[in-house]
Amino acid sequence: MVNSSSHPCIKDGWFREISDKSFPGQAFTLAVDSILYQAQSEFQDILIFSNKVYGTVLVLDGIIQCTEFDEFAYQEMITHVAMFAHSNPKRVLIIGGGDGGVLREVAKHKGVEEITMVEIDSSVIELSRKFLPTLSNGAFDDERLDLKLCDGFKFLEDIGEAGAQKKFDVIITDSSDPDGPAEAFFQERYFQLLHNALNPDGIVIMQSSENIWLNLNYLCDLKNTAKRVFPNTEYCYTMVPTYTSGQLGLIVCSNNDSIPLIAPQRSLSGREQEQLKYYNPQIHSSSFVLPTWADKVINK
Ligand code: SAM
Repeated sequence: MVNSSSHPCIKDGWFREISDKSFPGQAFTLAVDSILYQAQSEFQDILIFSNKVYGTVLVLDGIIQCTEFDEFAYQEMITHVAMFAHSNPKRVLIIGGGDGGVLREVAKHKGVEEITMVEIDSSVIELSRKFLPTLSNGAFDDERLDLKLCDGFKFLEDIGEAGAQKKFDVIITDSSDPDGPAEAFFQERYFQLLHNALNPDGIVIMQSSENIWLNLNYLCDLKNTAKRVFPNTEYCYTMVPTYTSGQLGLIVCSNNDSIPLIAPQRSLSGREQEQLKYYNPQIHSSSFVLPTWADKVINK
């Protein structure tokens, strides 16, 4: 166990998530039962602590990435909205995702033949396997996995330059927020790289890092940036109490305009539905429906 007074985000036994840029004038706090790990990796500050309600909490550069209690709401939605919007995904690419949660969800799809995961920071994988084993739930040992430890942006640039013939059916960007190693993922050039790496009927999904309460115009800009590359772009969301305001947007895109992203393209078997706690076909479609004030801005 580590001395709690030594981490700048922890004061008087409380972890405080503060960002003057993304959410000025407010802070989200969680009581720290014990600090399990803290150190600076080559890429980011890593903090892992436990909380009575939320269980083990992973924090990168001061921002909560996941907690044991609510992680399924994020992992299931960012994975299955894209996977079920595709009629038969066989090759899947995950950019980021070091905690293993998205990998766990992709691995539930038995029709998937190859999963490539590109994570920049091997220490996030090692620490998540140690302190948050239910996140990956053994999926790092899945024989379909090809794990690459490098920058996801550079990976996409390299396969583009090499003229890779084998493209992806689904690409999931499960990155951290723009203030760090994931900065390049929120710009038009990244959407172009995704577009080039995707099969004609392919689907991409990414976490938007923001919410409709505090960053509506930013979300509108991000969606418009994606739309300049992908004619078929939609915004949907998931509800996660430990992300700012409890609401997190996802940007979903396809090269193919005729694919209705807002509806699953295939039905779930009883066994598939049994394995899921948040996602179902109804919530797939309803997650694209926004409150009026937000709809007017994001879907104008
Ligand atoms: N669910 C989380 C969220 O939205 O807060 C994201 C979790 S996951 C832990 C984010 C991962 O993206 C981290 O492991 C981080 O190392 C990885 N990452 C950040 N920048 C990256 C890059 N340029 N290439 C590949 N992975 C990256």
